[in-house]
Amino acid sequence: MTANHSTNMRTIRTVSEMQATADELRKDRRIAFVPTMGYLHEGHLALVRKARELADVVVVSIFVNPIQFGPTEDLARYPRDFDRDAALLEKERTDIIFYPNDGEMYEKGFTTYVEVRKLEDHLCGKTRLGHFTGVATVVAKLFNIVKPHCAVFGQKDYQQLMVIERMVKDLNMDVEIVPYPTVREPDGLAMSSRNTYLSDIERKKARLISASLRKAEEMVGSGERNTDTIRRAVDDVLHQEDGIDVEYINICDTGTLEDVPVIAGRAVLAVACRIGKTRLIDNTILTEA
Ligand code: AMP
Repeated sequence: MTANHSTNMRTIRTVSEMQATADELRKDRRIAFVPTMGYLHEGHLALVRKARELADVVVVSIFVNPIQFGPTEDLARYPRDFDRDAALLEKERTDIIFYPNDGEMYEKGFTTYVEVRKLEDHLCGKTRLGHFTGVATVVAKLFNIVKPHCAVFGQKDYQQLMVIERMVKDLNMDVEIVPYPTVREPDGLAMSSRNTYLSDIERKKARLISASLRKAEEMVGSGERNTDTIRRAVDDVLHQEDGIDVEYINICDTGTLEDVPVIAGRAVLAVACRIGKTRLIDNTILTEA
C-alpha cells in the first residue's frame, strides 16, 4: 500500500468521469468505497477511517437514493448539507467524493432492478416495500461506477448488510464487503442522520432503544435462551416511557433473517420503532456464552 494518496480531495459528479478515474486508479491503486446518503456523522466517518486503512484511494459517495424511499417516506425532508459533509470528508483524507444528481444515476428509461429475494421479506422489508430492491440496485450501480476493490458498510443497517453480501455472492461481484460495528452516542443511541429529526424530549426517549438491546444481551448472558421471553423483556424496556411505537422486535438467524425460537449459537436481535414521526432501527448480535 502506498502512503502518497492525494491531499486534494476531488468531487466528481458524472458517471463517465468517475468510471474513467476509477479505471486509471485501478492500474496501480486499491480503491476503498463508502456509499452514504450524506448528512454525515461519526458513524459514517468511522467507516471512512476504516476505508483509509484498507486501500490507497478512498471514494465516498453522497447520494440520497430516491428509489429506496416509499411514497409516504421522508425523501423530501431527508437532511442534506454538502458543504458540511465535504469539510468533514476532507479532514478524514478522503480522495474523491462521488456526488451525482438523480438524473445522472437514473436516466430517462431506467428500468433494471436488483431483487434480493427472501432476505427482503423480513424485518424492515415487511413495511418498507421495495426498499431493499432500491438499495441493492443503487449499490450495484455504484459498484459499477466506482469500481472499488472493497466497500465498507455499517452493521447498524444489519439487513442492508446481509442484502449486499448476498447480492455480491449471487452476482459474483468482485468487491470485498467489509462490515463495521455500530457507532453510538454516549447514552447508547445508534448514530443516524435521522436522529436530527428528534425533539429534545424524543431524543431522551430514544436511549431506551439501545437500553432494550443491552437488556436482551444481559438475559442471554445469564442463560436465557427463549426468544419470546427475551422479546417480551425488550418490549417492556421500550414501553418504560410513552411515545415509542414498536414496529417490530425480532430475533432471527444471522444469515437468513428468519425468526428463531431459541438462541443456539448466534442470533440477531433487530428492533424498529417510531418516536413521533421518526423511524429508528437498531440491532445487536446475541451470542450464547
Ligand atoms: P446512510 O447514509 O444512512 O445510507 O449510511 C451509510 C453507511 O453508513 C451505511 O453503511 C450505514 O450502515 C453506515 N452507518 C450509518 N449509521 C452508522 C452508525 N451509527 N455506525 C456505523 N455505521 C453506520
